[in-house]
Amino acid sequence: MKIRGLVLSSRPHKEQDRLIRVLTIENGVLLACAPGAGKTGSRHALSAQCGTLSDFTFNHSRGFLYVKESEMVEPFRGLYEDIEKLTAAAHILEITSDVCVSQDISSVIYPVTICALFALSETQKNTSPVISAFEWKVMDVSGYSADLSACPCGKSEKDSSFAFSFNRCRIFCLRPSCLSEAGKYKVISIGAVEALRFFKRAEASNLFSFTVSDEVSDELSEITRKYLCEHLEKKYCKMDMLDLIKDYSICESSE
Ligand SMILES: [Zn+2]
Repeated sequence: MKIRGLVLSSRPHKEQDRLIRVLTIENGVLLACAPGAGKTGSRHALSAQCGTLSDFTFNHSRGFLYVKESEMVEPFRGLYEDIEKLTAAAHILEITSDVCVSQDISSVIYPVTICALFALSETQKNTSPVISAFEWKVMDVSGYSADLSACPCGKSEKDSSFAFSFNRCRIFCLRPSCLSEAGKYKVISIGAVEALRFFKRAEASNLFSFTVSDEVSDELSEITRKYLCEHLEKKYCKMDMLDLIKDYSICESSE
């Protein structure tokens, strides 16, 4: 039986094999050995690469899966165009790998991750909004959904700025009585609130078809990353490293 899956990680095993973790829609995350995949020109070398969507058939032997046949379906070539896209893809695979702990959650995350990789691979623009949409959707479907309805006071209909409360996981208006309820919060524009609402209701297939201004993109990025790191209790720092590289190259070119 052919199983389609996204290779989340691929590491060397024995002389020339690779151990791969494959995200599938119906079987959760599978761990398998791809014999000979570490050898250039091997029949599994391309399909067992990290970040590749491939079709596999497996053999069972002594409680372990071995790749018998494999065929690369989508290599997401655009990701290899620049370091920013590649780093963003690694960030997305890391989150996917961490949250897909059961078959149920894997089947929900699978289309989100695949569509995110397509969006990153094809975008000619900033990768940051794609990452924000991915991070927010993942939190939403993993049981960390935030309440994005209007402030409970009922007076915020026409407001243009709000407070997103990280510990209350909801929106408040900026009136002093409401802010005192918000705890730890960040002030965000109505544009950012609308984008978060869109991420929440969109299907994976159109989750990444939107545009935002650079200002809103920066606001989103700060909120979705912080929300993700706090709830998953992990510091996801791949994208921060990228910022360091960018800062460094700006310094270099200005000298
Ligand atoms: Zn209020």
